[in-house]
Amino acid sequence: MHGCAPQIPALDLTPEIDLLWNDIQSAIADVMRSGQFVLGPQVHAFEDEMARALAVKHAVACNSGTDALVIGLRALGIGHGDEVITTPFTFFATAEAISLVGAEPVFVDIEPRTLNIDPQKIADAITPRTKAILPVHLFGHAADMDAILDIARRHGLVVLEDVAQAFGGRCRGRSLGSLGQAGAFSFYPTKNLGAFGDAGLLTTNDDHVARTARKLRTHGTERRDRNEMIGYNSRLDEIQAAVLRVKLPYVETWNRERRRAAATYRRLLADVPGVSPPIVEEYAIHAFNQYTVRVTACDRDALQQSLADAGVGTMVYYSTPVHQLPVYSDHHAELPVAEKAAREVLSLPIGPMLSNHAIGRVVDALRQACATVAPRQVVAA
Ligand SMILES: *Cc1c(COP(=O)(O)O)cnc(C)c1O
Repeated sequence: MHGCAPQIPALDLTPEIDLLWNDIQSAIADVMRSGQFVLGPQVHAFEDEMARALAVKHAVACNSGTDALVIGLRALGIGHGDEVITTPFTFFATAEAISLVGAEPVFVDIEPRTLNIDPQKIADAITPRTKAILPVHLFGHAADMDAILDIARRHGLVVLEDVAQAFGGRCRGRSLGSLGQAGAFSFYPTKNLGAFGDAGLLTTNDDHVARTARKLRTHGTERRDRNEMIGYNSRLDEIQAAVLRVKLPYVETWNRERRRAAATYRRLLADVPGVSPPIVEEYAIHAFNQYTVRVTACDRDALQQSLADAGVGTMVYYSTPVHQLPVYSDHHAELPVAEKAAREVLSLPIGPMLSNHAIGRVVDALRQACATVAPRQVVAA
């Protein structure tokens, strides 16, 4: 029972919209007055600003993070008959993009600390058909890029980073999305830089990859009536680019506030046994798109329900690892670390404007819920 205490939703996008209301309104009005709505000056300015922010040579805006992955894979030359090594513990789109270009996802288990792909297990999965590694910087925490890039170099593979959840995150000081041959970003509204709809972006330092990606997003051509390949309609529109340009200068500060929120959680969770805060490796600066704890003391689903009854919204990313989804039922891999994580993870409310007071209430609710929910039945392995 939550009495008269206000609810804490899993995610609240309204404070940042309120903060920037006037600027966003006038940016959208300017686009409407300009009469240019698709792939115009706002998109080009946004691409330049993103390339500068990430210290990459090229940034190619497109319609979604999923499209950025698909276009990135194709621009890197991945297609039918190729295998791409990736993580099973991610949003479906990561693997879906691999399948969409005609290649086959090969799932490698994760390591238990960061829940990212385990570099130690990649080498065993390499076959003569392997062309690429697609690591995901899950929840905003860098995959171990030094180890991954080292394996890729030794085996002649390319690396496409899925940076959808990690804009502003770093690995050993370098921006995520600038380390592999290409990086795919999403600006879906829930990401750290969110549009007012769908939007995405591909980053690369490779001129050929950038040029191919630009063609692919506009029906396989740079010029009208010169179509060279089968591409997509994945043009970004001017209103989304204008909104993203208003928000972009704030993201670094907002990410710092996300880390402040995470530090508050960590301190308060220290006396909640059976709920483990996320681990941040020394090589990573976390972007905390999600604040995901592991619940070991009791049944995660029962705990989530109990928190909902107390007015605290949470999410489970992800309750089913990708290799166990119906669409990949012909994949018979057993990936016990990912399967265990799927039973234990719980994402708590986080955002740059979430107050320490609200975090205190979330943790109080967690402590109470843990005390009332029955201990978890022991699951083998
Ligand atoms: C959000 C997300 C995507 C897809 O991005 P969209 O813009 O929704 O298409 C891909 N991978 C991961 C890890 C994501 O979180």
